[in-house]
Amino acid sequence: MAKVRLEDIKRRFNNVIAVEDITFDIPDGEFWVLVGPSGCGKSTILRTIAGLETATSGNLYIGDRLVNNIPARARDVAMVFQNYALYPHMTVAENIAFGLKMRKFDPKTIQERVVNVARSLSLDHLLDRKPKQLSGGQQQRVALGRAIARKPQVFLLDEPLSNLDAQLRDDTRAELKQLHQQLGITTIYVTHDQVEAMTLADKIVVLNGGRIQQIGEPQAIYALPANQMVATFLGNPPMNILPAIYKGNGFDVNGQLLEIPPSVRENLPIRSGQSVDLGIRPEHISINSDANSTENSGLLVEVKVVEPLGRETLIRVSLPDSTVILNVQLGGNVRLHPGDRLSLQLDLNQLFVFDPKTGYRIS
Ligand code: ATP
Repeated sequence: MAKVRLEDIKRRFNNVIAVEDITFDIPDGEFWVLVGPSGCGKSTILRTIAGLETATSGNLYIGDRLVNNIPARARDVAMVFQNYALYPHMTVAENIAFGLKMRKFDPKTIQERVVNVARSLSLDHLLDRKPKQLSGGQQQRVALGRAIARKPQVFLLDEPLSNLDAQLRDDTRAELKQLHQQLGITTIYVTHDQVEAMTLADKIVVLNGGRIQQIGEPQAIYALPANQMVATFLGNPPMNILPAIYKGNGFDVNGQLLEIPPSVRENLPIRSGQSVDLGIRPEHISINSDANSTENSGLLVEVKVVEPLGRETLIRVSLPDSTVILNVQLGGNVRLHPGDRLSLQLDLNQLFVFDPKTGYRIS
């Protein structure tokens, strides 16, 4: 195991700056997830740590060793890619053993490691098969097994679940988490999937446009996002964003006044007349029982789409004469139809206020 430290890493491809100002410190044995939309620079950072890319500037440490000029094979890291990259002519056992043979481990140690790894990944009964005789999920487990068998100091995973179907993805995700708990190897995991990030990570690094947006524990980032990008990226359905103007006693949302109680108003660092973007998560909105009421911070809306999911119901609603759409998450037992008019209640303690120009959270 080893800690990993990135110091002001920058990577430029000709005129394109892929990543810059990348600084973070991963303690021994933690599971960190780099997450963000396509092109945000996740893979570039991971490949730089692996030694498959060279940083344009900055320093990279694995353990206490500066590895800027150390080649990939001497960094003692193992990387797993989304396309498995198994050797098709080798059996599962041979694939798992491959890295150990290359490093000239003795046959007894290799045999022991293969058996142990296969057991922990439930591959014991598949050791004699070739990759094409395996399902996608089994192939991915072999790829993980091949990486684990080497007992690297750091484990690098680049979207390892993205080729699996939904059910298998969920299962393999849970297995990965369990495996990390067992082995305690420092792990850096790249994904664009916010569910994987939330469920797997000790810490999440949210990236956008090649820069770090926020680093923190999943729940902490979810509860207190630094800016609108982070707020809308984590959470499904995403946080609703409502353009509004502050009026002193509340927010004007497309002609409707969302009243704010004095206790909440006091702490708002904004002035009357200021344009803001309000953020509210779908689970922090409910229906006012009196359909004609706009009291208690109600917003009149029209139902557009109803999606019953059993345990919960998702609805999409629009503000009158507006293109603004809100996602609302309600209980399972809701009878609504497109065209219904409702008054929605927003939990004002859960309301975020963003600066529309910079995207930063004001409150
Ligand atoms: P994805 O989720 O789509 O894989 P990513 O977040 O992993 O994306 P990167 O692959 O790290 O993003 O790419 C970051 C940026 O650097 C992108 O704008 C990409 O086009 C650019 N880039 C990456 N590799 C190269 C390269 N070899 N040459 C030129 N530009 C590159």
